[in-house]
Amino acid sequence: MTRPPVQLAPRRPSRQIMVGKVPVGGGAPVSVQSMTTTKTADVEGTLSQIYALAAAGADIVRCTCNEREAAEGLARIVPRSPVPIVADVHFHYEMALAALEAGVACLRLNPGNLRKPSEIKAVAAEARDRGVPIRIGVNAGSLHPDLYRRHGGATPEALVESALMELGYFAEADFDNVKISVKASNVPLMIASYRQLAEAVDHPLHLGVTEAGPPPQGLLKATAGIATLLAEGIGDTIRYSLTADPVEEARAGRQLLEALGLRERSGLDLIACPSCGRAEIDVIRVAKEAQAALEDKDLPIQVAVMGCVVNGPGEAREADLGIAAGRHRGHLFIRGKIVRVVPEDEMVEALVAEAMRIAEEGVEARLAAADAGAEEAAAADRAALLDAKGADANSSETKVRLIKDRLGG
Ligand code: SF4
Repeated sequence: MTRPPVQLAPRRPSRQIMVGKVPVGGGAPVSVQSMTTTKTADVEGTLSQIYALAAAGADIVRCTCNEREAAEGLARIVPRSPVPIVADVHFHYEMALAALEAGVACLRLNPGNLRKPSEIKAVAAEARDRGVPIRIGVNAGSLHPDLYRRHGGATPEALVESALMELGYFAEADFDNVKISVKASNVPLMIASYRQLAEAVDHPLHLGVTEAGPPPQGLLKATAGIATLLAEGIGDTIRYSLTADPVEEARAGRQLLEALGLRERSGLDLIACPSCGRAEIDVIRVAKEAQAALEDKDLPIQVAVMGCVVNGPGEAREADLGIAAGRHRGHLFIRGKIVRVVPEDEMVEALVAEAMRIAEEGVEARLAAADAGAEEAAAADRAALLDAKGADANSSETKVRLIKDRLGG
């Protein structure tokens, strides 16, 4: 019997907007965003980065629109981009109007530095007439000074109030085609701000921990904030802000959504046991070899590398395919069933070949094509290892006995 997958908290109901062809909110799949680091005026350089980001999993890409040349670049980039383009605008409302003229799919405005109500309303009116959404991108580091003073700092209440004020200006221009972010680099502040915002509005929310820094710390900070909220059902589109090649941002975003079960797996998911006293191989080395051999093949399957044949196939029985080592042989298994036993030095090669066949023929067909006698050969290896090493390969029980002897009891 196939069990239904365990689900996270139900997604927070939100209205839906369209960023070009990508729906955001209203039950649409959570989308991944990233931002180019090129000068937007460099059309070819920016497009090549946009293509790399799309290939790494970005559904939407943002480019800065900070000067006239950038706006002109956007006019040339937008029609050639494989994904919708968002223009990032700070300080200058004319740049927002120019980006709309360039045909962008969405604007991002920062209420902290684009503050004149007349200018905000002019942009909202133009976006309304063109049917283009705007992200209200509040940022704790560039909060409106009045709010900062009134709230005694960048508090969750201040960030949410900034978003609500901007919504108020938009409403005066009869515009509500909006998604919102309240980012901070401080993770608890970011989480608290989004929780409050989620209670206050029904607009789709764009999640991010701003200026998270270089990996691995940046990845951890961003994941701590974004994953916490997604697990609570909050968030409709996400961006990792890493001090790194933006391709890493797109990849991380995609992998997080897949890990949380919020997006279908698009590529390889390699799992490996942590290794222990039972391991019959160097699990780290074999896992790295398997990753290197499989990662560019783009196979949407889960592959397990397990250190021993005694526990490996059972512990990884949910994996589509796996390999476990024992007595100088590799046991190849599909969903926990041993389908082939190969010499240890051919393990990775056999794993890659089987992964390709599973991708072509499917799991059921490959289970049906299992080698006759593989199960028996594997059972013999397992029994021999249990005989040789016993059930207590880590000597835990022996150690417990020695402690008891020493301390009594
Ligand atoms: S018991 Fe086997 S599969 Fe489990 S951690 Fe140890 S070596 Fe890996």
